[in-house]
Amino acid sequence: MSRRPLIAGNWKMYLTKDEAVQLASSIASSCRGIDDRDVMLAPPSIFLQAVSESVRDSPVMVAGQNVCWESEGAFTGEISPVMLKNAGAAMVILGHSERRHIFHESDELVNKRLLGALRFDLIPILCIGETLDQREEEQTFAVLEQQLAKGFADVCLEDAEKVLIAYEPVWAIGTGKTATREQAQDAHYFVRGVLSGLYEKKLADKVRILYGGSVKPDNIDSLMAEPDIDGALVGGAALQSESFDRIIHFSK
Ligand code: PEP
Repeated sequence: MSRRPLIAGNWKMYLTKDEAVQLASSIASSCRGIDDRDVMLAPPSIFLQAVSESVRDSPVMVAGQNVCWESEGAFTGEISPVMLKNAGAAMVILGHSERRHIFHESDELVNKRLLGALRFDLIPILCIGETLDQREEEQTFAVLEQQLAKGFADVCLEDAEKVLIAYEPVWAIGTGKTATREQAQDAHYFVRGVLSGLYEKKLADKVRILYGGSVKPDNIDSLMAEPDIDGALVGGAALQSESFDRIIHFSK
């Protein structure tokens, strides 16, 4: 089963508007002509529109970093799926470990957001991953299984096919510690097995599973050589055009 790779940049709460536009334009020009992989940028939401305009006429897609489940309403501080789409987003990151751990977003809340994104045709990237303590206590697979089961609650088969997963071990995010390619592959293989149990093997074979956690120019090729790693969600190394370019242009 061949799955189209996706290299996604999560800009978190970094960059000024000018820097965001400049970086997006530079990435858009280095992506021209690329037709065998997808590229996505998730800027801070206040820069979504400007970034979308900068990448227009290029293959680069734009994403939100979170989304509310309602189209509008009294939800101070939230952004609706309709608003994200108005600003040019096609995708949205959900359940990032910083949302789960700093802002205490539960699996139930992440699921609510995921259902909302799907209802309004935004493609969700559902982030899952264990903490260092959970890994050391050999809880990794149990944690991933629970995050997937709760994250996909009430998601029908047809919608589940549209979701991407990002396996991001919390201990590897922004720490410079990357999971080894074997650790990442084992987790991705396990995730595919869980999806097969929740839905069916055909769906599990189709869903793209990204790896995230200190992905850099010097480890992307070996990670992408693993059979169940279908792309990367990149934080720090997505903030400079040189390193992100190299990651986009990975070779297996
Ligand atoms: C992330 O923000 O999802 C991430 C993986 O960050 P970093 O690449 O900096 O570890």
